[in-house]
Amino acid sequence: MKKGKADCSIFQPIYLSSIANKFAICMGIKMKEYKGIIFDLDGVICFTDHFHYLAWKKIADKLGVYFDEVINNRLRGVSRMESLEIVLENYDKPLTEEEKVKLAEEKNDYYKELLKDMTTADLSEEVKETLVKLREKGLKLSIGSSSKNTKFILERIGLSDFFDAISDGNNITKSKPDPEVFLKAAEYLNLKPEECLVVEDAFAGVDGAIAGDFDCAALGDAARYEKATYKLNGFDDLLTVC
Ligand SMILES: [Mg+2]
Repeated sequence: MKKGKADCSIFQPIYLSSIANKFAICMGIKMKEYKGIIFDLDGVICFTDHFHYLAWKKIADKLGVYFDEVINNRLRGVSRMESLEIVLENYDKPLTEEEKVKLAEEKNDYYKELLKDMTTADLSEEVKETLVKLREKGLKLSIGSSSKNTKFILERIGLSDFFDAISDGNNITKSKPDPEVFLKAAEYLNLKPEECLVVEDAFAGVDGAIAGDFDCAALGDAARYEKATYKLNGFDDLLTVC
């Protein structure tokens, strides 16, 4: 049965209205048995948005381009070069491809300098405990992030050896909303998309998950996105869904 169509079985993935979703989560109703979970990194496992903002702001200031938190929100889940194009929307001088690559590298160097300040304290108790409980339930766990700094960040927050697989910006050619990063993660876990749940905080990530035939649990801003299969109030709600 195709997703979104009427179906009475609670084991079929279905789109839930926010009320039904809340009810299901409160009542502990399992909508489907998953074998694996694929987590976006930024905004789901840890929060590096502010570091991205500061790094892009530095580049924008250097170019004399207006940049704020609202524009920064559009960069979520988007590749570095695509992010640069968004930053340059208000820049009227032409740049060569080489100059753009240099700017993107400069941004990343500054971002990585900021990331060095991250520690295990940047992993919340809620996320840490939930991950351990999901692992105890026998679920395979993977990262599915467009970030090329995934392994560096996981090392900073003390999760470098925790996940069964890591699919990140280094093994994909297309960033979200393309499903490639999630499809690779499922492949690394030896699971089919329909056996996995993707956890996302960005609209582009939810789109990517649905396009890849995954169910998607949305957090933060994305929790108001109607395309999300589950709309979570917090990370530990995953214990009810899975
Ligand atoms: Mg994210």
